[in-house]
Amino acid sequence: MTIKVAIAGARGKMGVEAVHTMMKQDGMDLVAVLDYKNGAATLGGLDLFPDHYTAPIYTDFERLVAETNPDVFLDLTSPESVYEHTKQALQYNVRPVVGTTGFTEAQLEELTELANDKNLGCIIAPNFAIGAILMMKFAKEAAKYFPDVEIIEMHHDRKLDAPSGTGIKTAQMISEVRAEKQQGHPNEKETHTGARGANYDGMHIHSVRLPGLVAHQQVMFGGNGELLTIRHDSLNRESFMGGITFCVEEVMKRDTLIYGLENII
Ligand code: NAP
Repeated sequence: MTIKVAIAGARGKMGVEAVHTMMKQDGMDLVAVLDYKNGAATLGGLDLFPDHYTAPIYTDFERLVAETNPDVFLDLTSPESVYEHTKQALQYNVRPVVGTTGFTEAQLEELTELANDKNLGCIIAPNFAIGAILMMKFAKEAAKYFPDVEIIEMHHDRKLDAPSGTGIKTAQMISEVRAEKQQGHPNEKETHTGARGANYDGMHIHSVRLPGLVAHQQVMFGGNGELLTIRHDSLNRESFMGGITFCVEEVMKRDTLIYGLENII
């Protein structure tokens, strides 16, 4: 069976790579693009893509679904639009695969309920890179033995949300096994706001934003006379494409919302 895919965010850094991936992937057909600008009638009409990329561009979700009937909706847009997009996709019985980060807990709960009510698969993956998933799993394992941990996530300076979805997800996974602990000196004071980073259950997440970076994270554990550092680097956006095609296939077999690739690999 060929899986019909619609994509939002096709003009973006991730989107461009994902469009090329969908165009060459056996068993997947890129049938439509959702945009909020009316830049061209088809992908090939944009300077970014060759003429033979004929997927039509829509600004209206309902029309997109009525005219192209996609199985899967892939969102690679921005924290401002992703929640509405994902909700709409589920309401129109299209299975979302979401790489965009920036959901609130309340939004995730609502989408989980909606996917359950509809018996529809939905995969929200803060990180599509397999190595990053392993980094989080290994960090969770290490946290059983080293409760003192600091997460340092590093991204390009165009990223809108901080901490990154992967940074938060790592902290969530660690807090499932880590003995509760407020780190640092009990009387520590920030002389400059933010110096100690975001506080998640007593552990700290630091966000670095620099041109030249893609997506990197290190999880540092401290013990008695020893340090353990687990690090992952995405060097280019190709590192995310294997995870995207995996999720597009996998979401067709599911009937609930899955948050995090680590729950299915
Ligand atoms: P980007 O280059 O800024 O691309 C986002 C694209 O979405 C832009 O072309 C933007 O258009 C478009 N867009 C914004 N609102 C839209 C809407 N309502 N409808 C349709 N298109 C819309 O960002 P990126 O680096 O590709 O990343 C996209 C998202 O994926 C971010 O949330 C990022 O954190 C996340 N990400 C996830 C992973 C993962 O593994 N899960 C990996 C990397 C990045 P304009 O520029 O015209 O506004």
